[in-house]
Amino acid sequence: MPLVSMRQLLDEAAKGGYGVGAFNVNNMEQIQAIMEAARETKSPVIIQASRGARAYSQDKFLYHLMLAAAELYPEIPLVMHLDHGNSFETCKSAIELGFTSVMMDGSLKEDGKTPATFEENVAVTKAVVDLAHKHGVTVEGEIGVLGGIEDGHGAGGTGLEHVTDPQQAVDFVAKTGVDALAIAIGTSHGAYKFSKKPDGSVLKMDVLIEIHKRLPNVHLVMHGSSSVPQDLQDIINQYGGKLKPTWGVPVEEIQLGIRNGVRKINVDTDNRLAITGAIRKVFVEQPEKFDPRDYMKPAREAMKKVVALRMAQFGQAGHAGDYKPISIEEMKKFYAGQAAAAK
Ligand SMILES: [Zn+2]
Repeated sequence: MPLVSMRQLLDEAAKGGYGVGAFNVNNMEQIQAIMEAARETKSPVIIQASRGARAYSQDKFLYHLMLAAAELYPEIPLVMHLDHGNSFETCKSAIELGFTSVMMDGSLKEDGKTPATFEENVAVTKAVVDLAHKHGVTVEGEIGVLGGIEDGHGAGGTGLEHVTDPQQAVDFVAKTGVDALAIAIGTSHGAYKFSKKPDGSVLKMDVLIEIHKRLPNVHLVMHGSSSVPQDLQDIINQYGGKLKPTWGVPVEEIQLGIRNGVRKINVDTDNRLAITGAIRKVFVEQPEKFDPRDYMKPAREAMKKVVALRMAQFGQAGHAGDYKPISIEEMKKFYAGQAAAAK
C-alpha cells in the first residue's frame, strides 16, 4: 500500500470511535518495531519524524525506510507525518520529499521556543494549509502552547502557562482550515511531565471536552502523551540508569480523550524508555557482547511490545482492513472541492 493521507486515517478513526497512535522515529529499528506491532494487532498507524529526526537521518534515509515499510506491510494503512514543523519552509520541504501529512506548529515562532501571537499562528498555518491541500497533504495545527522541550523544540515550563482557550480554537479552525488540531491541556514533551500522578489541577481534560463540544468535527491531537510507565523506568534504573521519579499521562485519561474527539495520540518517550532499558539490560547481563544486533534486537522487541499495547489501548487495533486507501491524487480533488464549496 502506498503511504496514505492522515486525513483519511483520522476520518475513519472518528467513524469508528477510536484513536490512532503517532509514534516518532529516527532509525530503521524503530520503524520495524512499529510496523511489526501494526501487523500483529492489525492497526492503521501514523509514523512521524521531527526536524531533529530528519536532520539525524539526512531526510532521505528516513523517507526510503518509510517506502520500504509501505512495501513490506501492504495491508497496513501508513501515514508519514512531520512532527512540529516550525516554519512554512520546513513544511514545504517535507511535502516536496513525500510526507503525506505535516504539522505546522505556529503556536511558537520559527525559533521553536518563543510563543507566537494568535495572528502570527493563523497566518503561517493558513499558508501551509493552502500549499499542503494543493498536494493532497493533511495539516495539523496547534493552538495554545505545550509544555516541556523535546528535540530542541518547545517553550519549556509545565504546560499550564498557555492552556488552549476553546473559543480561540474555534476561531483558529475557521480561519485556517486545518484537518487536525493539537491542543494544550497541561501535557508536556519529554519524560518529566508530572511530579505526581496527574489530577484535574494539572491535566485539563475539562478543557478538552469543552473544545470537542464546540468543534465536534475536528480531529483533536494529544501531544506529550507518553504514559511513562513505572516498569520501564525501573528497568533503566535497575541496570545503572539514573531517571528521576516522574509521571506521564495515564492511559485512562487518553481513553477519556478518545471518547471526546481525540483521534491522534503522540507517543515517543515510552518507546525511548523501552529501547534504552533493553540495551542497558544486555550491557549489564552480557558485558562480553559487542555485536550491535545483540542489543538492537531486544531493543526493537521491547519497543514493539509497548507500541502493540498502545494500539490495543487506543482502539486502532483490528481496523487496518476496514477501508481502501484514498490516493493522494484523489485527496487533491477532495480538497479542491472543499475549497470551491467554501467560496
Ligand atoms: Zn508534540
